[in-house]
Parts: sequence; C-alpha cells; structure tokens
Amino acid sequence: MNPLAKLDQRFVWHPFTQMRDWQRHEPIVLVAGEGAVVRDAHGRTYLDANASIWTNLHGHRHPRINAAIQRQLKKISHSSALGFANEPASLLAGKLVTIADFGFRTTDSNGQHARKFLPRFKLTNPKLTKVFFSDNGSTALEVALKLAYEFARRTRGPKTRPKFLCLEGAYHGDTIGAVSLGHIDLFHKAYAGMLFATDKVMAPYCYRCPFNRARPERADARTYRKCHWECVGLVERRFSAQKKRGQPYAGFVFEPLMQGAAGMVPQPGGWLRQVTDLARSHGALLVADEVMTGFGRTGMGCHENDDIASDKSKPAATAPFFATTCVGVVPDFLCLAKGLTGGYLPMAATLTTQKVFDAFLGEYEEFKTFFHGHSFTGNQLGAAAALASLDVLATEKSIAQRARLQKQMHTELQSLWTLPHVGDIRQVGLVAGIELVQDWRTRKPFDLRARAGIRVCEVMAKRGVLTRPVGNVIVLMPPYCTTRAQLQQMIAAVDKGVKELAKNI
Ligand code: PMP
Repeated sequence: MNPLAKLDQRFVWHPFTQMRDWQRHEPIVLVAGEGAVVRDAHGRTYLDANASIWTNLHGHRHPRINAAIQRQLKKISHSSALGFANEPASLLAGKLVTIADFGFRTTDSNGQHARKFLPRFKLTNPKLTKVFFSDNGSTALEVALKLAYEFARRTRGPKTRPKFLCLEGAYHGDTIGAVSLGHIDLFHKAYAGMLFATDKVMAPYCYRCPFNRARPERADARTYRKCHWECVGLVERRFSAQKKRGQPYAGFVFEPLMQGAAGMVPQPGGWLRQVTDLARSHGALLVADEVMTGFGRTGMGCHENDDIASDKSKPAATAPFFATTCVGVVPDFLCLAKGLTGGYLPMAATLTTQKVFDAFLGEYEEFKTFFHGHSFTGNQLGAAAALASLDVLATEKSIAQRARLQKQMHTELQSLWTLPHVGDIRQVGLVAGIELVQDWRTRKPFDLRARAGIRVCEVMAKRGVLTRPVGNVIVLMPPYCTTRAQLQQMIAAVDKGVKELAKNI
C-alpha cells in the first residue's frame, strides 16, 4: 500500500464516509491535477467528474489562477479583516456586487471593457451592495441566517421570533445553523435536539412528485409532467397560514434551479419565479444558497429545460453568473462559496442589501454591530484566486466553452436512456443527475442499503472517472474545460457502472 494511503487510513477521518468501509481498501491518494484530470500516487489518471465536490470551475492548475495566487504570495498571504482592509478583498467585493447586479463585463478584442451580459429583466428588488466574507458554504449560510434573524427583530420588533421557511430535501451545510435549515433526515435527524426549528415545504421533484400524474417516460420528468402546480399552491398556503398566525416568515431559504444534496433535484421552468414572488409578497427575505449553483454552473440558458429557455419571451443563450440571475430574481442574501475561488481555496461570501446593512448601523454604544466573523474572513490568497477566476469566467473563451459543454452534455447523456435502471436524467446547465431505479417503468427506488450509487461510482473509478453519488443519483459536474472526448469517457463509465450493477442485483 502506498505510504500516504497508510498514513491516511491510520489518522484521517473523512467527511460523509463510513470509515469501516474506508479501511477495507487502499484509498486513492490524489497528488496532482491538470485541467479536468487528476493523478494518484501510483501515477494513475482520472477525470474529475464532480469537479472535486462541485468546487472546481476551470480545471486544476489553471495558469491565470496559479499566477494570481503566486503574485499575491509575494505580497502577503493573510491579514485580519478584523480592523484592517486589504487589497484583493476590496477589489473582490466590488466585483461581486457588480456581477450580482449587472451580470458581468468582459474585455473585447481591442482591450476595451464591453458589457456582455446585461440585466434583461426588470430588477424589482433592492440590489445587493454589501459583501460579508467567510470561509465555506456553511458559514455563508450562517451569516445570512443571523443577519436575516436580527434584521427581522430590528424591523418587526424585539418580541418577534423570526422563523424561516425551507424546502424539503434542503441542504445548506453542516454547521448547526445550516443544519437547522436542512431537511434531509439521513443527515440531520440525529441532531434534532441541538437545532432550532425551521419549517419545510414541498420542493418540486417532478420525477417523484405525488401530484405528477404522468406515467414514466424516457425523458426528464420536468418535460412531461402533468400537474397543476400543486407545489406552488402548497408554498402559498404555507406563507398564508404563517401570516394568519401573526408571525409571517422572516426568510425563505432555497437553492435556486437545482437542489444539490437532495439528489440533483431540478426545478421546472417558472417555479422559482412564482415562489420567490410569493415569498416577497408575504414580506419574507429571500436567502438564495448559490453555493453549488453559482458561477455559471446552471448554464447558459440555452437548454430546453432551463428556466429561461422555457419562457419564450426571454432571449436565450446568455452567460449569467448566478441561477437567480437566470430567472431575474434578486435575493436579499446571495450565499456563495465552492466555485468562488474557482475551487482553489476555501472562501465564501454573503452578499446583502443596503437595507439590511443599514439596520446594523448605529453609534458604538448602541451595540448594533454585527458581532460575527472568522479569523480568515477576507483572506488575500482566496480573494486573489477569486478575482482571477471571475476574470476567466468572463472571457469569450470560457463562455464559449460552457455553451459547448452544456450542449454536449445534453447530447451525450441521451444514450443512458437505454438503460432500464436509469429512471431520470436531469440536466441544469453544467450539472447532471442520473437517478438509478430498480425499474424505470415503475420508478421503484433502490433501497439505500443496496448502495446502488456507490457501486456504480466504484466501477466508474476503475475506468478512470471519479465522482460521488448522492444516494441513488450519479452526479456529473465536469470542470468547464472538459473536452468532448473526456465527457464521452465520463458517460461511458456511467453506462458501464449501471450495466455492472444490473448484472449483480
Ligand atoms: N449549500 C449548498 C447548496 C451546498 O451544496 C453545500 C455543500 N455541498 C453547502 C451549502 C455547504 O458548503 P460547505 O461544504 O463549503 O460548507
């Protein structure tokens, strides 16, 4: 066994991992990466098919991001944001505010700044003007949660007990506040005694929706669903009921366009707009968790299942940075992490409005300060990487790459419909979830104990493709630099994995 693998098995406790299983096999020790490829300690190469748990955007060792980090290293790696400003964090905050409100700028062939993506929707809500930096997705949500809670108390009165509405299957991280917002029993139930109560409401999961009367077809369930938007009706009832109790929800927390850890559950076109309008009309602040969906992940708006494309009144094929931008929703809190630094360093940001910011202003002795912060808040290396990553994202090359990859994913995924154990294939932009079932005709799920997803991913790893399932859902989330041949290798590996599974059930 590789000595690093030995050390790992002896000392490291891995996240979301049954360590008894881990001890049974030599773990893959990754030592290098380039583009969409990573290499292990034995010199074997693999495709990084889930972008290193949904973080990596442009591939590993991107020259521009590497150079930016190296440049920053020559200046300073870290100084505290408690008491001091710093260069890259200030620049990054300005840039994030710009792209959240206006899309982004890029440089044309003459070196001039040209606005490539403009707000094509009427922005009805307050714009995001303030950025609070933290370290990861969970802390980005904690910041939003605490700000929204305190904002509600300050604006509605100190006797208010602000309550949040979340979605079924919600996952917002593993710190206690974020877990309180979460609604996946497998992960969260054990800690119920430590959590504060949040309400949940039905999320649209067309493939498994009790209101969807359509019989299974060999297509994304959103495209052939038969329903009357009962899921939106339920959201409306929730908001109304809470208002009648005299305690309207303080906030509505959601992952826009696709819920990741719920099983790559996509929202049908129009759902997000309807429910966020409802939340607004009931006075709830919108907390958008774009930890997974941010930075172009939800695509170009040119896929037939994307929100934009399903609304013919809106022009297709743009390159929005955020899922919320895709549908013209401006939240009160925009939570970003994972891809913020291109997936290079742990850094997060919570963007919010001037109104929320102002509620925390006062004379020192009023103690209205937001008493929250982390040692590495606004870290310079992370901010430098993020600035470079945003620059790369705005280049014509990256935009073209993403458009190409999104279309290729759609085309290549079609072959998997021939597999009887594939029940649903759902793609949103540059993310795909492939749901494994016992029989596609009945949608009968595999018992989690059968480890169908894990088994398929084990076969995929043997064929040089690394990803991690979410239960019975195989996730493909390739770095944007993935070539067509690499994508084909990923999908061939899924095919092989599902066929092997079929042989051994
Ligand atoms: N929100 C969402 C939507 C996520 O997918 C995740 C991580 N998978 C988180 C929050 C938590 O992020 P982190 O793991 O960086 O704390």
